[in-house]
Amino acid sequence: MRVRLKFLGAARSVTGSKYLLEVDNKKVLIDCGLFQGRKELRLRNWDRLPIDPKSIDLIVITHAHIDHIGYLPRLVKDGFHGRILCTHASEDLMRIMLKDAAKLQEEEALFAFKRGYSRHEKPEPLFTEEDAGRVFEFVDSVRFEKEIKLFPGLSLTYYNAGHILGSAIAELVLTGKEIKKKIVFSGDLGRYDDAIMQPPKAITEADILLVESTYGDRLNPIDRVEEDLAKIINEANERNGVIVVPAFAVGRTQLMIYYFHMLMEKKAIPTLPIYIDSPMAISVTDLYERHGGQHKIKVERIDGKLISIFDDPHVHFCNSSESSKALNEIKNPCIIISASGMATGGRVLHHLYHRLPRENDTILFAGFQAEGSRGRRILEGEPFVKIFGEEVPVKCQVRVINGLSAHADQSELLQWLGNFKDSPKMTFITHGEMEAATTFSKKIEEMGWKTIIPEYLESFELFNGI
Ligand SMILES: [Zn+2]
Repeated sequence: MRVRLKFLGAARSVTGSKYLLEVDNKKVLIDCGLFQGRKELRLRNWDRLPIDPKSIDLIVITHAHIDHIGYLPRLVKDGFHGRILCTHASEDLMRIMLKDAAKLQEEEALFAFKRGYSRHEKPEPLFTEEDAGRVFEFVDSVRFEKEIKLFPGLSLTYYNAGHILGSAIAELVLTGKEIKKKIVFSGDLGRYDDAIMQPPKAITEADILLVESTYGDRLNPIDRVEEDLAKIINEANERNGVIVVPAFAVGRTQLMIYYFHMLMEKKAIPTLPIYIDSPMAISVTDLYERHGGQHKIKVERIDGKLISIFDDPHVHFCNSSESSKALNEIKNPCIIISASGMATGGRVLHHLYHRLPRENDTILFAGFQAEGSRGRRILEGEPFVKIFGEEVPVKCQVRVINGLSAHADQSELLQWLGNFKDSPKMTFITHGEMEAATTFSKKIEEMGWKTIIPEYLESFELFNGI
């Protein structure tokens, strides 16, 4: 049996997750993400894939974040026609995420065309809503913890990763004439003490392990979140300012609603209106109610309706662009939660455009900001950021809450690795910027494990070669 693994993304970076596993003549892609952040990374989305999409037999998706699924529409457009495996909740989320991503691509291309800030005469989107819709012709969603036969000699089992709704650790088992090997892809791992997600499932053995390292060099305790959040909101309220929270519509938005709701109930912060300015967040919130068993939020059925904290009367969902635009006129303290989380696109750009120049308002980042993203630039104190082709001055208060991350921190990653009875033959450190990956790799090697931090497009012969 010949087994090769090639890193087509999330190698020494946190986006573009794509790992090509070749088992004899079968080609399996684990995750199919979009590159985000730095321009040189984003440009990779336009490069020809080093493999013909038509030749890929199957795609295994760990979870529905765009940096893990966002390249699917392009791959289908370029001729992929195999099977796409994911969990049930991931399929529901993917429908929302890909549609939104396609819309952003189309809007961005149109905007660049109108404002004339693209190098291209007629900028084209990477993919359209129609391309995104076609992805679902190939999707086959499955349950957690059920072994799925992919091909003779290759099976897949998903385990809860506790990172976002539907997120999974993918365990692939290869069975040859005389050998049986297990390759585990951690996907993105969640936290042990998250307020709304379950902890990641323990895996006890693997021959080859790929583990994420987003926070491989950082400790990110959750225990101060409530206190810090209350302080930021109270200070913003005293300044009579508006608080804008760029947050992913999936997971982070629901977590923020949970915390604000809880702090208001406890009277640790004043009761303020919370505006969810993302049509996507409404649909996603419904999914939290539909897939109730996979997280900790209490969902009750009252008079045939599913009721949870998301039905709090202070939480307002902005469905229309009019209700979104009306938020620009608000002068009194309120909380606006809007996507995208790294301020790379979406309605939050309109809020940043209006709020960044106002000294009394606050931008509160609620998670990881990838290198090169607009969010990172604001966080690092750049005096101006470009939005819609214009240089916008950053005069508002800029705050960050780190404990809210949906990613395990270094201690939690090590805790998860601690479940393995024996060290894997090789551990590939993926999905982390170089510094995080290097620090984490040293930590793992201290346990006597062998590690590799693969480079973009690097490939390895498994079992015989490693
Ligand atoms: Zn993720």
